[in-house]
Amino acid sequence: MDVEERHAAKSSFLSEAGPRPIDKYMYLRDLRVNDTNKYYQYMLQNAQQVLPFIYTPTVGQACQEYHSLGIKTRGLYITLDDRGSILDKLRSWHTQDIQAIVVTDGERILGLGDLGANGMGISEGKIELYTAAAGVDPSKCLPIALDAGTNNVALREHPEYKGLRRPRPKMEEYDAFVDEFMQALKAWRPHVLLQFEDFGNTNAFRILDKYQKSFCCFNDDIQGTASITLAALLGALRIRGGRLSEQRILFLGAGEAACGIATLISYCMHRREGLSEEDSRQRCFLIDSKGLVCASRNDLQHHKQPFAHDVAFTSSLIEAVRVLKPTALIGVSAVPNTFDEEVIRTMAEMNERPIIFPLSNPTSLSECTFEQAVKWTDGRVIFASGSPFDPIVDEQGQLHNAPQANNAYIFPAVGHAAILTKAKTIPPAVFMVAAEQLAAMSTIKELSVGSVFPQFSNIRNISAAVMAASVRFLVNSGVGTIPSGWEGHDSGEGVDWRAMAAGSMWSPASASRL
Ligand code: NAP
Ligand code: MN
Repeated sequence: MDVEERHAAKSSFLSEAGPRPIDKYMYLRDLRVNDTNKYYQYMLQNAQQVLPFIYTPTVGQACQEYHSLGIKTRGLYITLDDRGSILDKLRSWHTQDIQAIVVTDGERILGLGDLGANGMGISEGKIELYTAAAGVDPSKCLPIALDAGTNNVALREHPEYKGLRRPRPKMEEYDAFVDEFMQALKAWRPHVLLQFEDFGNTNAFRILDKYQKSFCCFNDDIQGTASITLAALLGALRIRGGRLSEQRILFLGAGEAACGIATLISYCMHRREGLSEEDSRQRCFLIDSKGLVCASRNDLQHHKQPFAHDVAFTSSLIEAVRVLKPTALIGVSAVPNTFDEEVIRTMAEMNERPIIFPLSNPTSLSECTFEQAVKWTDGRVIFASGSPFDPIVDEQGQLHNAPQANNAYIFPAVGHAAILTKAKTIPPAVFMVAAEQLAAMSTIKELSVGSVFPQFSNIRNISAAVMAASVRFLVNSGVGTIPSGWEGHDSGEGVDWRAMAAGSMWSPASASRL
């Protein structure tokens, strides 16, 4: 059967009874190579249903098996062996007009650990979303994998593994490699948008700190996650009232996601509601693998220190909930079933509408299920999760939706705005602006069934609004310029700029049926 025939019956192709997810992933890759236009038509018409097979959760399995799937990548590998000639390698790439890059070093792929050069699958998957969600021209998108070896011995010794068969280097050597890549990129394409993805957590924070003030770059695991979670929280407050600065937020987890989210939430409390920076940080509490992050600990990594408050240490989540009395509980620990009945019932005793966001992926790692959260709060929970859960109709016939905190609501639109404005840098505050725009877009009807985000199937319209708000912010803050052709249009409420944003999106040539 050729690719076209395989896709002819699209309903059976996408149904659960259709091929295995990994086969769907491979078919979609084939289609992309053989008929790019048709592939994008198909993806745009069925965005919500197709994404799980292009990106999470299927891309996780694809990365684990990448070396044995017979994949020919369209991305660029840059390895330790390229040191000294990385710029030449970029200059000899078959296409030079690149606007957006997703780069990984494969050290922490989703929750699956070090997958070395197989991490290319994550750069490829994520860059597809720039086109699907925000209309960046696919011919101007480049996935890159930095191959600095891998500490995954089984993978390194696998006969089909394509990457360097060596352990990862020490920090100094690694940093020099990343720095040559960054400087080469600047010499090659000075305005290119660069997204860091799935780096191990100490490298991720250090690299972001080092380059965010001089490159048009951001880290989606830290900043994109922060933005979508802030949007979920602002949406929750539209449902139940109250100010952000009145919330007390307890995180299970103190890694890239938790520290990114806590930093953006406290920034928003400070900038929007006038709380001092110190008091804003005091509204966020983090628990890591050893227990509550607090001032008496002397084992805290740099990224946790702003949230080490003067509170008594405990290693127990339930005790922290009882003492700190959070209004919101956010799970980013990748430890499943940690929001147990006692924790959730205690949240429900203390809060009329408890906010509970188990964000860990994939589904098997979620801190609790949607059903548990609804049951143990008697339906009063305001919920968002990292992985999708089915809606629930309770005994009273009331519908409860389980909104998914998908970063694809945010990063493609912010990234496309940075491309259009030729932004020199991406100030962290743009992720607050994007979150506010997204949170404002759920309708009253959506909010009434717990949907803190607007429907993902409407993603291109949503992205147009987030792009317009981000363009306005980047221009006003002086890091970007008004996109050509946008001058003279009304930027006030962003209505005209929304139309300009929608008009700047790439679409496949014609909308013929698949
Ligand atoms: P990470 O940087 O590795 O952080 C994991 C954190 O969890 C670390 O601080 C770790 O503690 C802590 N932890 C481990 N075991 C724990 C335990 N038993 N109790 C309490 N904390 C524990 O990973 P990440 O990038 O933050 O991602 C974490 C999870 O969030 C992943 O499952 C990811 O899929 C999910 N996530 C979801 C979204 C989304 O929904 N949009 C976005 C991003 C990430 P130590 O610091 O002591 O090691
Ligand atoms: Mn990621």
